[in-house]
Amino acid sequence: MSQAQSKEYYERFFQARIEDLHKEGRYRVFANIERMVGKYPKALFRTEDGVEKEIAIWCSNDYLGMGHHPVVIDAVCDAVRKNGAGAGGTRNISGTTNHHIALEKELADLHDKEAGLLFSSGYVSNESAIGTLAKLMPDCVIFSDEMNHASMIQGIRQSGCEKYIFRHNDLKHLRSLLDSVERCRPKMIAFESVYSMDGDIAPIEEICDIAEEYGALTYLDEVHAVGMYGSKGGGIADQRGLMNRLDVIEGTLGKAFGLMGGYITASQAIVDVVRSYAPGFIFTTALPPAILSGALASVRHLKTANDLREKHQERAAMLKQILTQRGIQIMDTETHIVPVMIGDPRICKQTSDILLERFGIYVQPINYPTVPRGTERLRLTPSPFHTDEDMRYLADCLKKVLPAAKPVRLVRQVA
Ligand SMILES: *Cc1c(COP(=O)(O)O)cnc(C)c1O
Repeated sequence: MSQAQSKEYYERFFQARIEDLHKEGRYRVFANIERMVGKYPKALFRTEDGVEKEIAIWCSNDYLGMGHHPVVIDAVCDAVRKNGAGAGGTRNISGTTNHHIALEKELADLHDKEAGLLFSSGYVSNESAIGTLAKLMPDCVIFSDEMNHASMIQGIRQSGCEKYIFRHNDLKHLRSLLDSVERCRPKMIAFESVYSMDGDIAPIEEICDIAEEYGALTYLDEVHAVGMYGSKGGGIADQRGLMNRLDVIEGTLGKAFGLMGGYITASQAIVDVVRSYAPGFIFTTALPPAILSGALASVRHLKTANDLREKHQERAAMLKQILTQRGIQIMDTETHIVPVMIGDPRICKQTSDILLERFGIYVQPINYPTVPRGTERLRLTPSPFHTDEDMRYLADCLKKVLPAAKPVRLVRQVA
């Protein structure tokens, strides 16, 4: 008779999996950052020994600084004083408040849809909505852009449906995959507007045309565009006047809106079916009033904040210009996302470490599985609050650090 595994076996096993990550140079270390209201992009960094140091954040997804906006902070504080800390239950059992209803209505309006539905996060909204909608349709086939976010991939897996991955933004490939499937089968095309790691934008209109031709539902993740693009911050589909052509528009309250939570907006029937069937919506405690109240204030504020949106774009353009002038190679993007390609996990991490420790610049290394292997990068996200001076300092520091990191790559290749 063989022996049962010991406790040590499990410990050793998991330790070895961590070792794998160290060997590949992609073990993740989180920087301990304390953001301070009114100081963004400056913040406090704490080393493991508890030493505090002022640094500048260059990789926040609180793209417009709304997490610190007085309108948002007031709304959060008012709601917590008035309504308390938690929602007190799932949406079904005592957890639905007026805050939920008001925000869902506001989000539906933001995207010109009949209805909205809140989730604990953008991740959960993608996983739940894609998973549920596709699973409910018999014989459904999903067509998914190869660069789609992990949460969409998880939703597709959960649906158990047949899936086809089309090459990134490749309409021809999408079309040929659609051609390979019986016309009568229900279909869903899942894609993003702004791809967060490359900063490029999907051909939304063309994908909608194709979807119409083949009778497919369209599911668009606008997580990296909501609040920042369009006449009222509805995202790229808003900016391009395409919102009515999309069946589901998904977004987050955690990035440009500055808080946390996710949502979908769609027709009444689609929202009602997800509300009624999605386990990730049903079996979890509702978002708390304070978050919702802050999010409502943020969404409303950004609906008319075209000046802030313009400033954000102007700052991103300036950063690209300053970096390019200093000879720093950036990926050419049409958005606020400015990636500096490194192409090696160790060099990427090392560059980031030096920037933080020596120069007080915080930009987290982006390694696999967030991006494909060999495309490791630093992903800069300028905000309306990064000044020319901040940018010139960043450029100078990158200039010093980037070439210095190169020899490591050679050593590694020889070894
Ligand atoms: C961050 C992100 C999500 C998840 O949103 P959270 O609210 O952070 O869970 C979904 N889709 C994309 C493309 C993202 O980058």
